Amino acid sequence: LAELFEVNRSTVVTAMEELASYGILKGSRKAGTQISGDTWSLILPKSLDWGKYINSGTFKANKHILQMINRLEFEPDILRLSTGETDPRLFPHAPWRKILAQLSKKNTVFNYLEASGSEKLRMAIAERMGRRGIAVSPSRILITSGSLQALQLISVCLIKKKSVVYVEAPSYLQSLRIFQSADITLKGIGMDKKGMKLWKIPPAAGNMKQENMSFLYTIPTNHNPTGITMTLDRRKDLMDFCVKKQIPIIEDAAYEELCFEEAVPSLKAIDKNGIVIYLGTASKTLAPGLRVGWLIASEPIIQRLSDAKMQMDYGTSSLSQLVFSEFLTSGFYDKHLAALRKELLLRRDSALMILEKNFSDIASWYIPKGGFYIWLTFSKKISSEKLFFSAAKEKILLNPGNIYDFRPNNSLRISYSYLNCCEFAEAVQKLAIIVRSIMK
Ligand code: PMP
Repeated sequence: LAELFEVNRSTVVTAMEELASYGILKGSRKAGTQISGDTWSLILPKSLDWGKYINSGTFKANKHILQMINRLEFEPDILRLSTGETDPRLFPHAPWRKILAQLSKKNTVFNYLEASGSEKLRMAIAERMGRRGIAVSPSRILITSGSLQALQLISVCLIKKKSVVYVEAPSYLQSLRIFQSADITLKGIGMDKKGMKLWKIPPAAGNMKQENMSFLYTIPTNHNPTGITMTLDRRKDLMDFCVKKQIPIIEDAAYEELCFEEAVPSLKAIDKNGIVIYLGTASKTLAPGLRVGWLIASEPIIQRLSDAKMQMDYGTSSLSQLVFSEFLTSGFYDKHLAALRKELLLRRDSALMILEKNFSDIASWYIPKGGFYIWLTFSKKISSEKLFFSAAKEKILLNPGNIYDFRPNNSLRISYSYLNCCEFAEAVQKLAIIVRSIMK
């Protein structure tokens, strides 16, 4: 010990005697000097048991299969047949470079912006919304870090725990998880080809007498995952129902700008009573990596949510906001959108042909009028786990229908936005072989 610590031998002996007097060291002729058993915990504290912390927070873990999907998306050479993103090859690189070069000369990019978002961007969004029949001033717009953050803000600032949120069944899985993590109860309402089946909402629903609240969350246009667009009549009925029952609506309009035909007016556009909170995003039309979304509501709501957003992240990335703002005001966005819709329509038509060839005898689907998705429903029961893992072995990444629903289903979300027509055909042909072998 004296050599090891380069101290005098007598210092070590004195120290050991002192430790022995405290009972920390024990000596015996046979065993020599030992540190007593329970002293190790004083000298070397046990490593922390993180296990008990990991599941203690308010956020619920994603389903295991979804965690796998999120990981597999980054595997090289995997064919992403279900991904809810546009093909990065369709990204508008030239305007992007031009806008970035201009912005790099401006100081505003380096600072925080208002928590509610860049005024320039909010003005550009207000103008855009106006063109779609939603008259709104910039003061009624909040810029969020993607529309998922808007949902999170709503669920922790506006909705009491244990309240009920009516949602389409199936619905977008991440939105469902956000509500669940905020201790909100979800009630799934089935759909037909016109949208949510309103008559399935229990007559007792509503906020007249109840202490806890009810909300309704819907993706009325190019729904994720079914691709269904709610008809105008159904929208009007939904509005009447919610006004009567005093149920606020959260309208998730993520795919609204990706309609192949004339768009049905959004719920917000026909909202005469101010019951709709509208969510938009740049993720599906421009780039999910920007993390820019927006929320439209009354001013008191915007102020409340901006205050919470300030606590959460001090505002959405200044660079992302200014890039999006430049895209909108320069006209690049509209040009890009027109090209994107055209390409998506081409891909949808090609996808429908390929599905018809490979699945018409064993599955059915609605024809989407926009967006990214086709909801394939098999005529026979099929294990979604088996399907997912068999496909993954063949380097095809799937989003089985079960992750979007409360009850098991026989469906699969197919996306035509990420793969080009040849890649899509290759993936679907391989998938058809897998499905048939599982169904046998
Ligand atoms: N809502 C729906 C219906 C979506 O499909 C998505 C993306 N898959 C989002 C919200 C999340 O969008 P963001 O990237 O803006 O958070």
